[in-house]
Amino acid sequence: MQKRLLYLFIGLLAVLIAQAQKPKTPSSSEIYQSLQKLNFLGSVLYVAAHPDDENTRLISYMSNHVKARTAYLSLTRGDGGQNLIGPEIRELLGVIRTQELLAARRIDGGEQLFTRANDFGYSKHPDETLEIWNKDEVLSDVVLAIRQFKPDVIINRFDHRRAGKTHGHHTSSAMLSMEAFDLANDSSAYPNQLNQTSLWQPKRLFYNTSWWRYGSHEEFDKIDKSNMLSFDIGTYYPLKGMSNNELASLASSQHLCQGFGRLAQRGTQNEYIEFLKGDPLTDNDHIFSGIDTSWNRVKGGKAIGDILYAIEENFNFKNPSVHIPQLLKAYQLIQKISDAHWKTQKTKELKSIIEMCAGLYLEASAETNWATGGETINLNIEVLNRSDLPIILTSIQNSNDITISKNIELKGNTKYDFKETLKIKNDAKPTTPYWLNEKGTLGMYKVDDMALIGLPETPRVYTIGFNVLIDNVPLTFTKPIIQRFSKPDKGELYRPFEIIPEASAKITEKVIILNNDQQRDITVVVKAGRDNLEGDVEVCHPNDWNIFPKKQKIAIAHKGEEQTLVFTVIPPKNQSEGFMSPIVHIGDKDYTKELIEIDYEHIPFQTVLLPSESKVVRLDIEKRGENIGYIQGAGDVVPESLEQIGYNVRVITLDEITSDTLSNFDAIVVGIRAFNILDDIEFKQQQLFDFVSNGGNVIVQYSTSYGLKTKDLAPFDLELSHDRVTDENAEVRFLNPDHEVLNFPNKITQNDFEGWTQERGLYFANNWGREFTPILSMNDKDEVPKEGSLLIAQHGKGYYIYTGLSFFREFPAGVSGAYRLFANILSLGKDDVKEALKLTD
Ligand SMILES: [Zn+2]
Repeated sequence: MQKRLLYLFIGLLAVLIAQAQKPKTPSSSEIYQSLQKLNFLGSVLYVAAHPDDENTRLISYMSNHVKARTAYLSLTRGDGGQNLIGPEIRELLGVIRTQELLAARRIDGGEQLFTRANDFGYSKHPDETLEIWNKDEVLSDVVLAIRQFKPDVIINRFDHRRAGKTHGHHTSSAMLSMEAFDLANDSSAYPNQLNQTSLWQPKRLFYNTSWWRYGSHEEFDKIDKSNMLSFDIGTYYPLKGMSNNELASLASSQHLCQGFGRLAQRGTQNEYIEFLKGDPLTDNDHIFSGIDTSWNRVKGGKAIGDILYAIEENFNFKNPSVHIPQLLKAYQLIQKISDAHWKTQKTKELKSIIEMCAGLYLEASAETNWATGGETINLNIEVLNRSDLPIILTSIQNSNDITISKNIELKGNTKYDFKETLKIKNDAKPTTPYWLNEKGTLGMYKVDDMALIGLPETPRVYTIGFNVLIDNVPLTFTKPIIQRFSKPDKGELYRPFEIIPEASAKITEKVIILNNDQQRDITVVVKAGRDNLEGDVEVCHPNDWNIFPKKQKIAIAHKGEEQTLVFTVIPPKNQSEGFMSPIVHIGDKDYTKELIEIDYEHIPFQTVLLPSESKVVRLDIEKRGENIGYIQGAGDVVPESLEQIGYNVRVITLDEITSDTLSNFDAIVVGIRAFNILDDIEFKQQQLFDFVSNGGNVIVQYSTSYGLKTKDLAPFDLELSHDRVTDENAEVRFLNPDHEVLNFPNKITQNDFEGWTQERGLYFANNWGREFTPILSMNDKDEVPKEGSLLIAQHGKGYYIYTGLSFFREFPAGVSGAYRLFANILSLGKDDVKEALKLTD
């Protein structure tokens, strides 16, 4: 139900966000607001850990009300979260969440920065976080962000004094920001950065506090606020027809894959920041106290300010182009500023304002959205001057540094179209997220080129520079090549232009589980990046596995088409696991990557290249029972995984649950978070309990302890908690080593808890009736043992099981032990198991 609402919401939002991918065509009120920002010389850096941590109300307020240049530094890209809108997880989810942050910033007016830290999953303590991240590298990236962005003010989202009380990534972000504040101006700290940037001392550091930090509004009302500033972030912007908090809601609603679509907020609302470090506040209500945020801040700025303040004061909303001659004067003065930072930043802002005032439309559209090295593409260039000013297009310059002379006088509102071609260099690098180019560690992306560190996305290499003369002043506007096209049901669409390899390949299944030594066919799909692709394909495999044929030929006529090949895999006799990867040989070149396309309406189309590999597992596994009914919760791939080991799985809706249908199954498995999102599940509980007493097994995977749709989770007392074990290698102790579930039909040993991924489990039970038997004990470092990860109760002839173990994560990662243990849970009480038990007694 929730998902359906979410999709509806995405649909409604599509109208708004489809704009996000089109070039901006700003109205005069937007130009005016850009001018206001041009005339404010101050900046704010907001620091937190994940996409969606950021307080868009404050970012929007700083950007749109204060007019400060504002950026959000998110230490990670949020790879560890869940995806509510599609199948992408891990690094692909990080790509989506990066784009969602950029979409949010397009709305709240902020900029977006990152570090190389990877969101590896939940972490209880900053000590653990900073051990898995390379603390020094992340700190260096925060210092680099400060040196490059040069904020006057830093605001932390989280409290550095709360170690152990919130997500370790959160506290770490605040701790690193505190340290970096002191290091950014220290020439002995990360001196190699000074080749590309310069030292910087931010003036002040604040913590964006809130009532929830103190438990309640009442408690917060009581505390001394003399060290705090507050802002009414509900301020209304007539120029936007929206209040700040409405705008902020719209920005945070871009985090759709996290389910952040939400109602807009309106009206007065206070936001607080607590002073932590730097120059004490001289004037109690002013975040920039003691900082000159006028043009006088810059040497030579007075004359620039005289021109630009006068334009702001007398702005002509009916015809902004009348200001261009004066804007050009200011532009020429800015070129003489000696301070490189202000010169670069203000040149960029002012050029954009001149372009907007002239109503210039400059576009380079390719006939395709992707090409390979060596290919020549056709471009359609569109140039339009929508002002009365004489503007001359002197030349255009492509990314191969070829200048094509034009000398066209652009008459007012007359469209000039011309065709050009662009040869893509033979050694052109594919466009793919730069942080995924090389294999990193659990906690860090590997990025060798320091110029890329911190950037939200890979810079576009294929661009067209438009060299124009406006009132005899030469200016160059550089535009990335895009593809503009239309779809009958969607209207005009834009896609980024990408370089892809001439061949890419994948095995269709990411995890291949074989529960016996029978051979199995696998499918390899090869995609052509160019016409007339010919070559052959082989599949690399672990030594004790075999695959045939060894090689197969491919011949694909057209770019974009795929060819499907079937290979036969022969597993070894005994348990074994490893990876298989297809290699495409074209001439003397080998291609080993898979091309993944990510296409959602709220973000630009993404192509991502990742190493192409599939995990193969030959499992020693016995099982009892055949037919499983699956009740989907928030969505997981457990049903597909159980099919891989030979079960018949049918996904059933709550409406389908009747004693008749239930009688077809040996077990019912309840998907993750089902008790949080299925409104009517409480009405089906009694039927499930009856199913158990008649001899069926019900296995309930984790739901969160808050927001449960019913308190009666089981036929006996059962309470869930926040208990989780995040260390995927935490020791697992057997509380009842003789229990059936650890012995039949598979003998479970410590080996079965090796190779787990991300965590052991979450939302364990912490209170249960004596009918339940706890099976396992485990805990994170320095914590008391938790015994609620796997609880089994006999009820009549069947078994009721609650488990917080992360089977939903371990199955798609092909973790053998997780499959073996789950098979034992499903087999509980099945007759021949009882026989076997008797035999060993
Ligand atoms: Zn977070």
